Amino acid sequence: MTDSYDVVVVGAGLAGACAAALLARHGGIAPQRIALLAHAPPANSRAATDVSKPSDAPVVGGAPDAPAALRVVAISRASEHVLAAAGAWPLPDQSRLCAYERMRVWQQDVAFDGDAALCFDAADIGEPNLGYIAESGALQAACVDSFRAAGGALIGAQLAAAVLDAAGARLECTDGRVIAARLVVGADGAQSLVRDGAGIAVRTHDYRQLAIVATVHTARPHQHTAWQRFLHTGPLALLPLFDGSSSIVWSLDEAEVPAVRDGSAGEFNQRITAALDGVLGAMTLASERLSFELHSAAAHSYVVPRCALIGDAAHVIHPLAGQGANLGLLDAAALCEALAGAVAQREDPGALRVLRGYEQQRRTHNLAMDAAMSALQFGFGAARGPGAWLVNRGLALVNRSGALKRVFARQALGTAGELPRLARAAIA
Ligand SMILES: Cc1cc2nc3c(=O)[nH]c(=O)nc-3n(C[C@H](O)[C@H](O)[C@H](O)COP(=O)(O)OP(=O)(O)OC[C@H]3O[C@@H](n4cnc5c(N)ncnc54)[C@H](O)[C@@H]3O)c2cc1C
Repeated sequence: MTDSYDVVVVGAGLAGACAAALLARHGGIAPQRIALLAHAPPANSRAATDVSKPSDAPVVGGAPDAPAALRVVAISRASEHVLAAAGAWPLPDQSRLCAYERMRVWQQDVAFDGDAALCFDAADIGEPNLGYIAESGALQAACVDSFRAAGGALIGAQLAAAVLDAAGARLECTDGRVIAARLVVGADGAQSLVRDGAGIAVRTHDYRQLAIVATVHTARPHQHTAWQRFLHTGPLALLPLFDGSSSIVWSLDEAEVPAVRDGSAGEFNQRITAALDGVLGAMTLASERLSFELHSAAAHSYVVPRCALIGDAAHVIHPLAGQGANLGLLDAAALCEALAGAVAQREDPGALRVLRGYEQQRRTHNLAMDAAMSALQFGFGAARGPGAWLVNRGLALVNRSGALKRVFARQALGTAGELPRLARAAIA
């Protein structure tokens, strides 16, 4: 027997889980006609959520006193609003969030407290903070919980293939189940099978770098500041965590990775302390070290009849500005609004005309962000000699201009540019 739904969201990562919760609450579609196909939690998340075995028990993140999860994301104000609309914010345990109030960005050749080090402060734009560093698993779990509480159907299964035709999508699972949908939302990440089934091509760029992720203790307090140093070998971010520790995301050329990832903890401590110019004193490794291959990807189209792609299934960008998950949440909001508008007009939510509205709102925005990340990565990383001088003069100029700094701070906050309505204000 084939189960049938109006909308099936494939993938319960942050983008998919949030899209499902938004649709169940604001999509104008009966929640029981919406399904979320959840396979496994994102690899390596210590606070990962096992959504593969649906039960009546609420899906929870890490234990209250557990150390911070290794996979954390910087959540912008716009994303906070989207999560609130999804019924997933505030989180059940807000004490595991860390608000960051300022960002300090500097380049390898300059001092972190010098003229050419950029500093954005939330107070400059009258905000209490620039966003939160949150555990990915806890955000995801809150969205899944909200979706289920609204009456949506959580299906623990892995997609094997998606077959689309004019009437809908046929979703074949690895356990033999077949699910029918009038619309399938591909939120199944960078290696999306939904995208393959829809015949959508993808352009990829391999940075030939890996990002090393770990938790560290620092001799001096993190001061609720997100630190980012652009080294010639790639950007290195230090993000403040709720328990006083910090999360690092260190992008390195492939050849350099083994020494940093696999060397002794003592060697690592020396390397990371030097790489951050001792900005918070001596650093000590407090977790295992994970590595992620870095590439960017852009789907040629986000939609075909009966199918829409969101999140990393549609676009992958360099993590240097911590925007990938934020873009996926904005996709989820824009898609929900497009579908709700169609349902209100008694239109078919799987029709290409409806889905194009979503694509138009998000694709240009996401492509611009990808281009900006590549330019930053190239501009800061490669700049030496006269190039470095120019970059550093530019930073000093921005640093002295209150107006320019406010523009950058708003970008960090995620409130600049055209946003979906659900991202503009908290909607319960
Ligand atoms: C080192 C690093 C640091 C980052 N830091 C930040 C940050 O600070 N801020 C930020 O905004 N972004 C950050 N990002 C980017 C962010 O992590 C991703 O953009 C985001 O997690 C993508 O979410 P997603 O839901 O689209 O995809 P994913 O997280 O990949 O989720 C896809 C989901 O689909 C499921 N799935 C896959 N295949 C199937 C199948 N066949 N059947 C059923 N389910 C399936 C998977 O199990 C998974 O749950 C970072 C990325 C990296 C690599």
